[in-house]
Amino acid sequence: MIKGIKGVKDLLPEETPRWRVIEETARRWADRYGFHEIRIPIFEVTTLFARSIGASTDIVEKEMYTFQDRDGTSLTLRPEGTAGTVRAYIEHNRAAVPVPQKYFYFGPMFRHERPQAGRLRQFHQFGVESLGMADPRADVEVIALLWRILRDLGLQGLTLEINNLGYTADRDSYRPQLVTYLRQHESGLCANCQRRIETNPLRVLDCKVPECREMTETAPRLADSLSEAARTYFTGVLHGLDAVHIPYSLNHRLVRGLDYYNLTTFEITATNLGAQNAVGAGGRYDSLVETLSGPSTPAVGFAVGLERIAMLLPESALQTAANVVVYVAAFGNQGSVAGLSALEDLRASGISAVSDFRSSTLKAHLRQADRLGCGFSLILGDDEVQKGTVILRNMVTKSQYDLPLSSLLVAIQPLLTGS
Ligand code: ATP
Ligand code: MG
Repeated sequence: MIKGIKGVKDLLPEETPRWRVIEETARRWADRYGFHEIRIPIFEVTTLFARSIGASTDIVEKEMYTFQDRDGTSLTLRPEGTAGTVRAYIEHNRAAVPVPQKYFYFGPMFRHERPQAGRLRQFHQFGVESLGMADPRADVEVIALLWRILRDLGLQGLTLEINNLGYTADRDSYRPQLVTYLRQHESGLCANCQRRIETNPLRVLDCKVPECREMTETAPRLADSLSEAARTYFTGVLHGLDAVHIPYSLNHRLVRGLDYYNLTTFEITATNLGAQNAVGAGGRYDSLVETLSGPSTPAVGFAVGLERIAMLLPESALQTAANVVVYVAAFGNQGSVAGLSALEDLRASGISAVSDFRSSTLKAHLRQADRLGCGFSLILGDDEVQKGTVILRNMVTKSQYDLPLSSLLVAIQPLLTGS
């Protein structure tokens, strides 16, 4: 037997209704906030990710699915959506469009990580990118959108954590202070963090290992090295969040695992997700477009993991009005043909209709109608066809009605809706 790949999951029909609720809710709110869908490719040239996410990040160093094309070009399955979106923005000269470019996307992402609950090798994200506006209100807008979606889905126990990463110059003046401190305390850090001192020292602050956290508790803080401009910008974001009543908690350790962020960075965590407690994250990335050789374009965005939202989705979010489904119980030579027409006619008039073509007796049909949870069955044998009638059976009350076959659709409508 050939099995699926480790960390790559099937979503069976029992699970897809949750996903539809999540996707429909996200789309509805994205629409209201003026974000438009973009569909970008699943694979890109490797250098796109190496240059945007950063060569010494976990993602690029050890998590990418990279392979050679037939001509030797190195390609990579996308580990996230921002790089591809920005590549498309530059390639299609969207900077020339005189209105803000606000995009959203859905889709699978690929990272070679150790699979566990809430951590997969093929996972799915919903993300948005707001390109063109260097204004704290743009940051508030994307955070508010994310917050509305998660609240509308009924997710509980959420916290918005937020931090100010400052401008590049701010981090450049801070980094040596941090490195000096980390070197002094090197022996108390995990092996990963010892390596990070050279490659990506800010990431040490974000390490989840308790010893590292303790060790960095007294480290110099980025907040103390921030320029006036960075402070002012961030204050604007916080005031905006206050104005729209979105609660947040400041987390000076919050450093994202991607190099392109500056100023505002945020993460939404959920108390009941266990170790993989991040639902989504994002921030401002004002230099990424330029890094990828595009025109200077400020930007802010986020991405959320759909698997993690699905894990948190309360049952109440799934309670939508049950869709009436009519089961067509057709048997006999003439009945079967008339049944096929009835199925098509019902569907064409907007009613969901199904049948199990393996069943040849009324009893077998009705059993399948029950198993499929159909509210009604339409019984149609050779006798009915000869009389020009059809029987509608309410599967719950068991009451039955004779309807004329020639005007079935007119006669059936009021009985299905119960009006
Ligand atoms: P984590 O800290 O959980 O590794 P991350 O910082 O790598 O997350 P991002 O790259 O910011 O995550 O991606 C945003 C969101 O995508 C995460 O908050 C999470 O919900 C989801 N996500 C990331 N990696 C995975 C994965 N391997 N499996 C499932 N969901 C994931
Ligand atoms: Mg990760």
